[in-house]
Amino acid sequence: MNKIEHIGIAVKDLEKSNELFAALFGKPHYKTEEVESEGVKTSFFQLGPNKVELLEGTNENSPISKFIEKKGEGVHHIAFAVDDILSEVARLKEAGFIVLNETPKKGADNKLVVFLHPKSTNGVLIELCQEIG
Ligand code: ZN
Repeated sequence: MNKIEHIGIAVKDLEKSNELFAALFGKPHYKTEEVESEGVKTSFFQLGPNKVELLEGTNENSPISKFIEKKGEGVHHIAFAVDDILSEVARLKEAGFIVLNETPKKGADNKLVVFLHPKSTNGVLIELCQEIG
């Protein structure tokens, strides 16, 4: 596993939160992207080598909408960059971690992503992501 690629934050209103985090970071987000299969709208801020991803659910069945319903807005996941997502998945399964989707799916920001169940990682939802070459 390499660096922290981004931290994902669940928000109720992406437009408002874009303004809030732009004020916090002193610079605007550099892109927005909708991932329809996941029912989310996202925006990204670049901070040195790391990013912050804001996520808003686009329907009530979206994992983000459900998360906010249960826990309120806040940190949703931490994403780590990996070079070879399939070998990392194999390694982590071997080590006893619970992989939520063994087949990597296409996430935002041109990435293949796999999530680990927070139950197996001290309550933290972990995303592995590999840049799609
Ligand atoms: Zn993410």
